[in-house]
Amino acid sequence: VRDSLDSGSILQTDGLTKEFLGFKAVSDVGLRVRRGSIHGLIGPNGAGKTTCFNLLTKFLQPTQGRILFDGRDITRMKPAEVARLGLVRSFQISAVFPHLSVLENVRVALQRARGGSFDFWRSDSVLRKYDDRAMELLEDVGLLGFTHRPAGELPYGRKRALEIATTLALDPVMMLLDEPTAGMTAEDVDRVVALVKRVAQGRTVLMVEHNLKVVEGLCDTITVLTRGRVLAEGDYATVSRHPEVIAAYLGT
Ligand code: ADP
Repeated sequence: VRDSLDSGSILQTDGLTKEFLGFKAVSDVGLRVRRGSIHGLIGPNGAGKTTCFNLLTKFLQPTQGRILFDGRDITRMKPAEVARLGLVRSFQISAVFPHLSVLENVRVALQRARGGSFDFWRSDSVLRKYDDRAMELLEDVGLLGFTHRPAGELPYGRKRALEIATTLALDPVMMLLDEPTAGMTAEDVDRVVALVKRVAQGRTVLMVEHNLKVVEGLCDTITVLTRGRVLAEGDYATVSRHPEVIAAYLGT
């Protein structure tokens, strides 16, 4: 049964609400994420961004409301079912194994994405059939120069890139990125911005991001949350003009 999505939306929530002991962490949120867009979710600490992500990926069950993804009602689905439909959160399913090399990490992600459970005893030769695709993914995220390095030894920014590569192994239709530039140097931030642009081709991206320069540079549409509610929505120029956004978020 395909539920009716607003035309052009790949993800839609209606009246999405999550209460913790009577406290509404997310309150009556109606999101519309356009297919193919890069959509930003911003707001001060405690605004409900993480709770929203957990609701969308089904790690939390909503108290009220519904969630539609790609024509299906996913409100009551389990996390793995939602991931199988192509709604995938980076840094969640894709654990990075620090002692495996960068290439081995992507091989394992590909093997798991194609239905295999991760198997430490699996011989190298079995996993090598994934190498062509693994190298493509590593090229996409700019890690070709690091293929044989243990993942645990990668600089922080490169480790995040590897996490994105292992997420891409799942061939997501829509990616949720949780603060992809958090804790990065300016140089790493520029690299992640370029990477997200590349990753977003042919996909939809919803990202929580605190760095407003990054949001401005990447996001077509931005939803501003405060105290669990949508405060403003639109492109960067629109939301950054909103007086309450300036007061609540930009703090100027
Ligand atoms: P953000 O990601 O925007 O910083 P969160 O979604 O983490 O915001 O949190 C929103 C609000 O919900 C906060 O006030 C937080 O304390 C509260 N909250 C989040 N998770 C829980 C939980 N499991 N139990 C109780 N309160 C929670």
